[in-house]
This record gives sequence, C-alpha cells and structure tokens, in this order.
Amino acid sequence: MDKARPVWAEVDLNALKRNYERIKAYTTSEIMPIVKANAYGHGAIPTVKALYEAGARRFGVAMLEEALEIKQAFPSVKVMTIGFMPADFAQTIVREDIITGVYQFSQAEALSKEALAQGKKATIHIKVDTGMGRIGFREDALQQIQRIAELPNIYIEGIYTHFAASDQVDLTFAREQLKKFLTLCDRLKALGIKIPIRHAASSAAIIQFPEAHLDMVRPGIILYGLPPSLQVGRNVGFEPVMTWKARIAHIKTISAGETVSYGCTFRAAYPTRVATVPVGYADGLQRALSNRGEMLVKGRRATIIGRVCMDQTMLDVTKIPGAEVGSIVTLLGTDGYERIDATEMAEWLETINYEIVCDISQRVPRIYTEK
Ligand SMILES: *Cc1c(COP(=O)(O)O)cnc(C)c1O
Repeated sequence: MDKARPVWAEVDLNALKRNYERIKAYTTSEIMPIVKANAYGHGAIPTVKALYEAGARRFGVAMLEEALEIKQAFPSVKVMTIGFMPADFAQTIVREDIITGVYQFSQAEALSKEALAQGKKATIHIKVDTGMGRIGFREDALQQIQRIAELPNIYIEGIYTHFAASDQVDLTFAREQLKKFLTLCDRLKALGIKIPIRHAASSAAIIQFPEAHLDMVRPGIILYGLPPSLQVGRNVGFEPVMTWKARIAHIKTISAGETVSYGCTFRAAYPTRVATVPVGYADGLQRALSNRGEMLVKGRRATIIGRVCMDQTMLDVTKIPGAEVGSIVTLLGTDGYERIDATEMAEWLETINYEIVCDISQRVPRIYTEK
C-alpha cells in the first residue's frame, strides 16, 4: 500500500475467472458478462481483461460511455449496451461498432441512417418488455419490429427480455415472461424475421431456470461471487471477488458516559476502547450503518459505534485486546474464522448486495491480485 490513506479494495481476478468457469458448468449457451457500473464496482477494464483471458468475447454494459471505455482498451471485443440509449448518439455507436439494445423505433431509424452514411451495418438486439415494465417493445409491437427489420443497413443479431422475479424460488412470473417472449420470437420467425441470438437469463435464471438460457446468458452478480438474492444462489460455490479493507488510524479508551461521533448517539456504558478507521460514507460505507454495522479486527467482530462520518468511523474494540494502530480492519471479506460479505452488509441495511459493491466509491483504490 503506497497510498497515504490505508483504505483499499482487493479484487482477485483469479476468483473472477473461477466464477466464470462455474457459470460454464451451468450452461452451454454463450456467456455475455455484464460489466456495467464499472463491473459492479470491481473495475471494468481489469474485469474485461480477465474474462477475455477466460474466454468471454462479448460484454454487456448499461451506457455508451461504458461501452466506449471498453472498446478503446479492447477494440476486438464485442460490447453491447443493454439499457437506455438515446438516438442522438447513433454516429458514435456506428463508428465504434457498438451493439445496441433497441427499444424504440426511433433508435433503429437513427442507427440505420447513420450506418448508411458511414457505409456500415449497425448491429442491434431488440429489447422486449414481457413484464419488467422498464424498457422494451411490448408483445404487441410485432409491426414495429417488422418495420425495423426492413430498415437498410440494420442487422438484428439478437432479441432479449429481462425477468422481474427470477431471483425468487417461485418462478411462475418468470415462466409467464419466458412464454410471452418465445411466442413473440416465434411470430417474428413466421414472418421471415430470423434472429440468431435470443437471450433472457441473468444470474438468478442461470442458476435456477435452465429453460431460459436460450442462445446466450447475461451474468452479472454471480461473476463477482455474490448471490442474486437471499433465496437463490447461496451456497452454490461462487467466490466473492472483492474484499474491502482499512487499517486502524487511532485508538483510545473512553470512560463510561462519554460519547462518540456526531449527534452523541453512542454513549459508553462501560470504559470502552475505541478504534478510529479512516473510512466513511464518502467511500461508500453507508451512514445508515451508524451504531449497527460490524467490521472484522483480528478475526473478531467489532461494532460500529456512533455515526459513520464522511471519512472516518469508530469501532468498539474493547474485547479485541490485540487491536492497535495499524491493525487491519476488514469491512468485506474474511479474517480468521469470521467473514462479512456484501450480502450480510446488505441485510443490515435492508438492501441488496448489488448496491453495496456498486457504492464502494472511486476514492477507494482497487488493488488487483491473482490468488
Ligand atoms: C444488470 C443486468 C443483468 C445482470 O444481472 P445480474 O442479476 O447481476 O446477473 C442482465 N441483464 C440486464 C438487462 C441487466 O440490466
């Protein structure tokens, strides 16, 4: 660690590769790793490089800037935007050969025009909304898709949908969505519109809904070693890729009755040994963890006392006599026999592990390892 501040996140690229191999045990479909939001906080470029080495050739992102960043570093990989994409960026999309998920006719029209101007073909995937209610053509959009298929210089390589509830044990809704999707695909086929790649499954459906794997799957969270929900994907062997650590910056003992941090919300009931850790909500450690979250020190759990500040947080280390200035603190990861993972932290906050890893801010340097 050569940073002045001892707070860092370790990203184990070999764990990432092992998770990719585990996905291959679930499916024979093509795998398009989802690396949006800086690869769920893990760092897009190192993640793409590692997964490319593992065999992935196509990556999914949420937005144009993310696609451009990857294309610039790895011109030969295929990159697809799966989410929002305004039509005004057609020129860049066509120039950079980015595959676009299309959910409005106007996008396809703009891409067609631009592809014609640049003497190229624009590759698109049609997004279908079968129940997520977010973006996509609804099932009755057959005519619009037909019109897209007739546009010049457009290649419809794929068609896809997204499940709203494939991370529950009860797959009734997901099955209805799949049925609607396949019905639409069949109708298009009957109209002579043949689309080679149909895809629907994200992590949860990869694990528990093999009928939905179709021609390609779109794993995100399980690549990073986290389960898609509390019901699905726990104990199936994916390894967390990122750990989050810091070192104790300061230690003192306060007397019974003294308080800690803003608002004096923690008042010591007994003489308390307090460790200050130089990490706070500006690093993505949620302020809602004040007086409730835990971190690991010397293989033991230490409770966060008082409010989490912007840059610093205090722990009760009274029962961890070995804790001293410079001791490693594990916010996410394993220390001895104890482990705190993003799923547990998410439970303290009544949110999901996805949000925990995405929230670890850019201020926390990512250290890449291969263990
Ligand atoms: C984010 C996303 C995924 C990946 O989801 P996970 O649950 O992380 O596997 C797949 N498809 C779409 C459309 C997404 O937005």
